[in-house]
Amino acid sequence: MELMEQETQQQLIPEELPLFQAPDLGEDAGLYMEFMMKSPCYDAIPTSCKLVVFDTSLQIKKAFLALVANGVRAAPLWDSKKHCFVGMLTITDFINILHRYYKAPLVQIYELEEHKIETWRDIYLQSSFRPLIHLSPGDSLFHAVYSLIKNKIHRLPVMDPASGNILHILTHKRLLKFLHLFGDTLPRPRFMRRTIQELGIGTFRDIAVVQDTSTVYSALEIFVERRVSALPVVNESGQVVGLYSRFDVIHLAAQKVYNNLDISVGDALRLRSLCLEGVLMCYPHETLEVVIDRIVREQVHRLVLVDEALRPRGIVSLSDILQALVLTPAGLDRNNL
Ligand code: ADP
Ligand code: ADP
Ligand code: AMP
Repeated sequence: MELMEQETQQQLIPEELPLFQAPDLGEDAGLYMEFMMKSPCYDAIPTSCKLVVFDTSLQIKKAFLALVANGVRAAPLWDSKKHCFVGMLTITDFINILHRYYKAPLVQIYELEEHKIETWRDIYLQSSFRPLIHLSPGDSLFHAVYSLIKNKIHRLPVMDPASGNILHILTHKRLLKFLHLFGDTLPRPRFMRRTIQELGIGTFRDIAVVQDTSTVYSALEIFVERRVSALPVVNESGQVVGLYSRFDVIHLAAQKVYNNLDISVGDALRLRSLCLEGVLMCYPHETLEVVIDRIVREQVHRLVLVDEALRPRGIVSLSDILQALVLTPAGLDRNNL
C-alpha cells in the first residue's frame, strides 16, 4: 500500500523537477501535499464567479478603470487577431506602466492615456515574452501551487481544453482556503503546532519596507526592483504603522490621482476608500496553525512578522505557507524550481 502511494505520488509530480533535501517535518508532513495531488483544480472552482476579459485593443486606461469598476484584480487578455488568450493584465502591470512613464506631479501620463494594451505589451514584453500560464480543470491542485510559485505569479487561469474558455482564475488565497476547509477532514499534521520561528516559514532577511513619509513613486520603485507584493510601512522609529500592497496602487486609478505620485505613502493609505484598519501581524512564537487561521480569516495575502517593539522582522505570505505545506514535503524548493 505504502509503495503504491509513493508510485502515484511520483507520477503526479510534473516531470523533471529539481528535488531538494526537505527539512524534517515529521512522518505526517506529506498529508496536505497528498491531498492536493489527489484534488483536481475543478474542485476549487466556485459554482459561480465573475470573470472580466479584455481585448488587447482596449486602451490601457480604460482597462484599469474597468478593473476597478468591476471589483476584480486581474483580467485575461484576448487577442482577436490570433483568436486566443495571450496573457493577463494585473495591478503589477499598472505599477510597471506608472513607474516607467511617470514624469512629475500633474503632468499627464500620455502613454497611460493613449496606449492600447497591445502597444504596451509590444514594448514591455520585447525581452521577456511569456505565453499565458494556465491549467486544465483536471490538473491537480498540487500542480496549481507549483505553477504559481515557480512562475512567481499570483493569478492562474483554469481553461477548459475543449472550448478554450477560462472557467476561473485561481489564486494562493483560494488554494489555501480550499486546503483549510477540506484539510479539516484530514488528521492535523503535528508540525502545525510548531512555531513559525521553529519551522522557518516566511522571509526573515532583507525585508523591503517603506517609510510613511516616502513618496508613492518610491514605493512603486521598490515593487518594481524587489518584485515583492507588499511593503510594511514604518514610522521614523522603525515601527510598523501600516501596509502598502500592490493591490492598494489600484486606488490611484479608482480615485484618478495617478498623476501625482509624489504624495506620501501615509497619505495614500489614508486616501484609500475601502481598506483594512491597522496591520495584520504575527509573532515568531505563534504556531503555524494560529497563523494560518488568522491569514485565512482576514483574507489577506500576508502577515507582517514583528518583534515585541513592533519592528518588522519578516513576512509570512500565502506563497510561503503553500510552499511549506505542499511543495516542501515533495522535496521542492521555490528557489530551485
Ligand atoms: P498581481 O500580484 O499584481 O496580481 P502577478 O504577480 O500575478 O500580479 O503578475 C506579475 C506579472 O506576470 C504581470 O505582468 C502579469 O501580467 C503576469 N502574469 C500574471 N499571471 C499570468 C499568467 N497566468 N500567465 C502569464 N503571465 C501572467
Ligand atoms: P490580494 O487580495 O490581491 O492578494 P492583498 O491581500 O495584498 O491583495 O491586499 C488586499 C488589501 O488588504 C489591501 O488593501 C492591503 O493593504 C490589505 N492588506 C493585505 N495584507 C495586509 C496586512 N498584513 N495588514 C493590513 N492590511 C493588509
Ligand atoms: P508573495 O509575492 O507575497 O507571495 O511573496 C513571495 C516571496 O517574497 C515570499 O517568500 C515572501 O515572504 C517574500 N516577500 C513578500 N513581501 C516581502 C517584503 N516586503 N520583503 C521581503 N520579502 C518579501
